[in-house]
Amino acid sequence: MTSATGEGVLEGDRTSGVTMLTPDFPFEHDRWLSHRAGLGRLPADAVGASVAVVGAGISGLVTAYELARLGARPVVHEADQIGGRLRSVPFPGGVDGVLAELGGMRFPPSGRSFFHYADLVGARTVPFPNPLTPHAGSTVIDLGGRTHYAETPADLPPFFSEVAEAWTAALAEIGVPELREAIARRDLARVKAIWNPLVRARDEQSFYGFIAASGAFAALPFAHREAFGQVGFGTGGWDTDFPHSILEILRVISTNADEDHRRVLGGVQQVPVGLWTRPLPDGPFAGQSLRDLHAGAPRPGVAALARAGSRVRVTDRWGRTGEHDAAVVTCQSWLLSARIDTEEALFDHPTWMAMDRSHYAQSSKTFVMVDRPFWRDRDPVTGRRVLSTTLTDRMTRATYLLDPEPVEGAADDHDRPATICLSYTWNDDALKWLALSTDERVRLMVRSLGEVYPGVDIASHIVGEPVTVSWESDPNFMGAFRGALPGHYRYQRRLYSHFVRAELPGAPDVPTAEQGLFLAGDDISFTPGWADGAVTTALNAVWGVVRHLGGSAHPDNPGPGEAFADLAPLDLDAEEPGTSLPPR
Ligand SMILES: Cc1cc2nc3c(=O)[nH]c(=O)nc-3n(C[C@H](O)[C@H](O)[C@H](O)COP(=O)(O)OP(=O)(O)OC[C@H]3O[C@@H](n4cnc5c(N)ncnc54)[C@H](O)[C@@H]3O)c2cc1C
Repeated sequence: MTSATGEGVLEGDRTSGVTMLTPDFPFEHDRWLSHRAGLGRLPADAVGASVAVVGAGISGLVTAYELARLGARPVVHEADQIGGRLRSVPFPGGVDGVLAELGGMRFPPSGRSFFHYADLVGARTVPFPNPLTPHAGSTVIDLGGRTHYAETPADLPPFFSEVAEAWTAALAEIGVPELREAIARRDLARVKAIWNPLVRARDEQSFYGFIAASGAFAALPFAHREAFGQVGFGTGGWDTDFPHSILEILRVISTNADEDHRRVLGGVQQVPVGLWTRPLPDGPFAGQSLRDLHAGAPRPGVAALARAGSRVRVTDRWGRTGEHDAAVVTCQSWLLSARIDTEEALFDHPTWMAMDRSHYAQSSKTFVMVDRPFWRDRDPVTGRRVLSTTLTDRMTRATYLLDPEPVEGAADDHDRPATICLSYTWNDDALKWLALSTDERVRLMVRSLGEVYPGVDIASHIVGEPVTVSWESDPNFMGAFRGALPGHYRYQRRLYSHFVRAELPGAPDVPTAEQGLFLAGDDISFTPGWADGAVTTALNAVWGVVRHLGGSAHPDNPGPGEAFADLAPLDLDAEEPGTSLPPR
């Protein structure tokens, strides 16, 4: 239960070599990124070319940072704040350095491209206290009104290992261990040989459909499937994901995305902010930061996108217009129809359809600051910690206890303020919180946890103001992250592959109106909900923009576009012509 496959060998194992090498397109972005030849070259007449970047989340800032190094002039527009869904906020009335991570909060080391940038800005990390890992200290699983306390998985009743073993066996039935091994060895041909048949066979199957149909779970009573949904694997509590495509889950499992998570000290927002503020190391703008290039602040949010001859016209919310040689859109793609006045001809209909069919997971989180990490106290009678990382079928679903950040030279941290994520929920569980105020949320959560921990007065430890978020109610996001449904593979493929479609000026099958406009970010990724996918789609867009401006990757370091013919995601539309409307 603590590892994706239930095998101890994979738990917390950073030497396994498994990376977030997307099996759909197993291009080695991390190697491309760290190659000394760099990402490419622009011709002299394209140096200074203007590229609009819509959104200053991690994908927009990676795009802007790398394009500026290559000599293009990025013009970043942001509707809200630098960092997007990597948002680390202090508690109102709180203490410096005590933060709530409202979006991404735990990062798998297998996400090498994300960590390339985290390392670049000097982010320090510690293990995240996921359930049933040693870093949690202790975990409570509270199901059906019964509470199980564990300091190691072995402390749980055998029922839970039966569930974990069934999950391991279900994955083995379809070759997932072999896929992980091929990813670890970076045997790209083997990755494709295993993955493509899985796409053909499973695109229309839901996560729950997969569980129910697997021999391993079918041999067990319903209670095992139900408990799997509650406790699941890795971070736990995946049943609100049951309607999603099983392919989404298989990507998470096979790339170790749900394993061995790290928490970023000082907040993960420092990664995008660091890319914004650090001096560019090379290129014509060397020594200046993206912030310097923007006179301190990004341009306002984008209100309209249109074609202006061979250029892209961007109008901001105050009516100021700029014309650019290319543009990269990184915000959630629903916003292109719902909030930005986007000229229809900028995308073909299959791409519009793919964007509009995007399915977003909802997500709600609520944090409180507490006076000290009181969860380490031991109950004098039972000897157990008084509060634990908690997975429950109650409304809170998942509760995480975040120790104070280490302070150099400090003897101990027992009396320093700490953070509780009272509740982290997805989908239906998140919608239950949507209409409630912050105080109503906190009161209900504390009451619900009181049922699990009678006699522990959590509320008495709260200091400062609580912080809560429902991403679906924020007009600049409209949802937490993409979560593809069964039958959505074709849409994901269209969006992911858009960077090669949009790249070449004058390509015979691509209307001029669609050239030079690129998509990047979480929506475009095959691993939505993970920052690494936002980074790698940004790198694809960088490759596309460079080509669009007449440049190229270095011959010693071919880019994702050069690898596309060999590694392209399986094209179900081409395999079954006429099965997808409208025809391409
Ligand atoms: C609740 C939650 C939990 C998550 N947990 C994890 C995790 O634990 N680990 C992990 O790796 N990932 C996690 N993620 C995913 C991760 O946060 C995302 O993959 C990543 O931050 C997406 O970056 P992005 O640049 O693609 O998009 P965003 O961060 O959304 O950036 C897009 C930007 O566009 C801006 N924008 C919107 N409209 C306009 C406009 N009209 N004009 C200009 N700008 C506009 C937005 O304000 C935003 O800043 C989580 C996300 C959420 C929401």
